Amino acid sequence: MSKKNIQGKVYLVGAGPGDPGLLTLRGKYLLQRAEVVFYDYLVNKKLLNHVPDTAELIYVGKKGGGLHAYTQEGINKMLVEYGASGKRVVRLKGGDPFIFGRGAEEIQELVKQGVDFEVVPGVTSATAAATYAGIPITHRGYTTSVAFITGHEATGKRQSTVAWDKLATGAGTIVVYMGIKNLPIITSKLMEHGRAPETPVAVVRWASTPIQRSVVGTLSTISEVVQKTGITPPALVIVGEVVNLRDSVDWFERRPLFGKRMVVTRTREQASELVSLLEENGADCLEYSTIHIEPVDDYSLLDHAVQNISSYDWVLFTSLNAITYFFKRLEATGQDSRILAGCGIGAVGRATADELLKHGIRADLIPEKFTGAGLAESLVNGNISGKHVLLPRAEKAMETLPEMLEDAGANVTVAPVYRNIPPQGRKDELREELADGNIELVTFTSSSTVTNFLSMIDADNDQKLHQLLDGVKIAAIGPVTAETARTNGLTVDIQPDNYTIPDMVTSIVDYYRPEAT
Ligand code: SAH
Repeated sequence: MSKKNIQGKVYLVGAGPGDPGLLTLRGKYLLQRAEVVFYDYLVNKKLLNHVPDTAELIYVGKKGGGLHAYTQEGINKMLVEYGASGKRVVRLKGGDPFIFGRGAEEIQELVKQGVDFEVVPGVTSATAAATYAGIPITHRGYTTSVAFITGHEATGKRQSTVAWDKLATGAGTIVVYMGIKNLPIITSKLMEHGRAPETPVAVVRWASTPIQRSVVGTLSTISEVVQKTGITPPALVIVGEVVNLRDSVDWFERRPLFGKRMVVTRTREQASELVSLLEENGADCLEYSTIHIEPVDDYSLLDHAVQNISSYDWVLFTSLNAITYFFKRLEATGQDSRILAGCGIGAVGRATADELLKHGIRADLIPEKFTGAGLAESLVNGNISGKHVLLPRAEKAMETLPEMLEDAGANVTVAPVYRNIPPQGRKDELREELADGNIELVTFTSSSTVTNFLSMIDADNDQKLHQLLDGVKIAAIGPVTAETARTNGLTVDIQPDNYTIPDMVTSIVDYYRPEAT
């Protein structure tokens, strides 16, 4: 390298303990601008959603990485190469990079080679594990000191550099990283050096994630508890009186949907509200975008209707996508919402009406029942005979609404503005999750999510379908979606009274509340 490229820099970023919400704002900012991202096993893959599509992602984890396991030297070398080549490189490390993360070794190599760097701290797994297991790591009444130690060195073979004699009674709370394999040695060293055998101990696995698991015991029993419950790394061991506070402070594992894996079948564009509400309540969401939305090839029907908009009495919107794509087309043809000034506007439900408001339009009609049929009924009651109705909607959709209006004497123009495409990909993962019995619940928010989900799991006969979905609960947003599920051989367990996402989540939470079962 003849000339140092001033653009290149390596950012060593703490990814936090697992919960993607525990990334720092600085970390997020850097991920959003990264050109290359190195990440490892303990990093939550959801953080990679912040990274631009154009960035190169390099997995350097030691587990689950297939054949290729990188050595620390190999990683150091790659960081230097990419940094020196002028790229903005983010090296994402679980927890905090400088707490048992070998971050310092990576930095030393960058320093040696003259590559610019910056370090962003992260929430280390010790504090997160304690907090998410309901254990205040310090408490005035119990302990005034905490020690973070590595359990990796506790084996008898090597001379341990951990001062067990001083630690055992010197630190109030002791948190051991990488301590599962050597747990029997660690607990006996602590007892040997004077810590009481009845000292409470908690072990927390995959802290702050939906699969968090915690068990408790005492210094003398915890090894057996861990063995019996099959707890494996990554896990932290928390030793000290503060563990006893867990009963009153536990909150994370007590959330109503904690530990339940749920499939969210929505369009990529719309999944977020449902996913975040379910996750707020502790669910572990697997998102499958069963539908991909795209514009139609031919807008001539809509363009023609818009040119003659003064001859229409009503324009009806039956989905968020219909609104999005209707207005996109108006924009593309140099027009705006003012063209609708002379028409009555109908919205199928509250969410659609709210979406219209974003375009400066207040719906004149929202039916009591948030369905196409509900909308048709309200219009028919108001006498629709002889009226002209424009219905911008999906290329393929249920015919109930236009048929009911036409039966009542209306003149309906259906103008396709978008289409649903069942995407491929990740099918195998979904089928495996179902076959392994990992899925608690599947959510459906429209009829097409049902049919696309079924085509994704490829259950071409009833027997296969029942095998895969045996014991899996089904939640449907409303009666039409539920009916589609039933006609396809599914049993609907949860259905809200109001057909909205928040109501659906409330019904799911109610269903799983201990009092309700
Ligand atoms: N730099 C990291 C620690 C890396 S050492 C940090 O600051 O957290 C790896 C060890 O960290 C694991 O063996 C385990 O003991 C602990 N660890 C990391 N993430 C964890 C998690 N989500 N739950 C429990 N333990 C975790």
